[in-house]
Amino acid sequence: MEFYSNKINKLIEYLSGLPGIGSKSAQRLAFHILNMPEDDVKELAGALYEAKKSVRLCRECFTLTDEEICPICSNPKRSKRIIMVVETTRDLAAYEKIGKYEGVYHVLGGAISPQDGIGPADIRLKELMERLEGDVEEVIIATNSSLQGETTAMYISRLIKPAGIKVSRIASGVPVGGDLENIDEVTLSRALEGRREL
Ligand code: ZN
Repeated sequence: MEFYSNKINKLIEYLSGLPGIGSKSAQRLAFHILNMPEDDVKELAGALYEAKKSVRLCRECFTLTDEEICPICSNPKRSKRIIMVVETTRDLAAYEKIGKYEGVYHVLGGAISPQDGIGPADIRLKELMERLEGDVEEVIIATNSSLQGETTAMYISRLIKPAGIKVSRIASGVPVGGDLENIDEVTLSRALEGRREL
């Protein structure tokens, strides 16, 4: 794109590095931004920076939030006796969207993946075990149905079962290798309802 000036090229380059944004979309966005009133551009830039600066991990469930304790963990209506284990904040959001789950979550921050050098110590398993020292009735393992997700589910169930806590796995019906966030709400809702005890 040598016909654009350096600064425009730089903007297009940044935008095309975002997920789902190809070079055509990046150009469209870049020119949209350049045509925006200066104050709006300042606000957009400020919103990006503020979000990045203030977002942190919830002290209890490790989801991304801008409070010390996220809105789910601080909601007195949510049962802390049921913990759903998910890989990422986006997976948590997928379950929240169906609006049927009344427990809390535990965000692992990934899945065990020996081929990528990610072992049990690299995800938040120690933190999960610490939470289980409290009054917990059931742990629902909702890691993805990818090889890594299944490996992680097996590992967690072996880790927890000796503690005498009920461990269940969300039902199949979630396509193998499928990212939870791309699955429709009905499928996800069925997967949750049809969970089986491990
Ligand atoms: Zn939380």
